[in-house]
Formats: sequence, C-alpha cells, structure tokens
Amino acid sequence: MWERSDGQLSYIPKRMVNQPMIEHARCACGAIRLRISSAPKEVNLCHCLTCRRIHGAPFAVYAIFERSAVTIDGDTIAWSSSEHGKRHHCPTCGSPIFLAFDGIEEIEVPTGLFDQPGLFLPEYEIWCKHAEPWHDAQGRPCYPEARPE
Ligand SMILES: [Zn+2]
Ligand SMILES: [Zn+2]
Repeated sequence: MWERSDGQLSYIPKRMVNQPMIEHARCACGAIRLRISSAPKEVNLCHCLTCRRIHGAPFAVYAIFERSAVTIDGDTIAWSSSEHGKRHHCPTCGSPIFLAFDGIEEIEVPTGLFDQPGLFLPEYEIWCKHAEPWHDAQGRPCYPEARPE
C-alpha cells in the first residue's frame, strides 16, 4: 500500500510497483505455507460451482503464477476437479491451497491465503452464469463460462 502525496492511502496493487516481491500465504491452520517470488501472470475471479463449493463462498479469486515462482512448505492432498485439473488442499484444515492443470506450468493460488490484503486485483471474471445476482463486477470483463482462447 502506498501513501499518496495528499495523505490518502492508495490500493494500487503491489505487483505494479517496480521492485522485486516476496509474498507469503498460508492455510487457516498454518500447516501449509507458500512463498511467492514473482508477480502473478494474471488475476481472475471465478464463479464456477466447484470454486463456490470448495471455498464455501459465492466466488473465488486466484492469482496465477509460474510454478517456479511458488515454494510450498507442507504436504497438500489433491483431488481431480476436472479431466486435467487438480485442486490441492491442506490435509488438516481443508483450506484450498492451489489449482493446477496437467501440462501447464502455472499454479493458481486463492488470494484469500495471502497475509496482506490489497495485493491482487481481479482483472476479469469467469463462469459468470453462476454469479450471485447481487454481485458487482465493478466493470471487469465477465465471461459466461471459461475465458475464450
Ligand atoms: Zn491448514
Ligand atoms: Zn472456478
């Protein structure tokens, strides 16, 4: 977070700041800890039914990193949420830790795991056909299903 010249706090995402970042994230019980050494490639907000259910919340927000940028301490348990997708959770508290797809060198980390709020702003929304009617996308692009290629 920056303090502007007028004294107001600014919520410009930290990843836009021109300096190397190390961010920390963890599950609810603390058994799984993540250390992230680069800015995300993108940040999205997902309304799909699986995200709703695993988070127990109306939507999820993910920061998507190169796998090499993410160090994970602790052993997760995984299940296949789609043909090529695996979702990893903490075996103790059940927190969703990350989502990854076979053959894609990316890792999608729920932004709710990060210690500090305000780091990652969603750039677009997907599976909006399942969005709650009260949800406000604040002008972000909304795709009814997955984002078209
Ligand atoms: Zn845990
Ligand atoms: Zn989803």
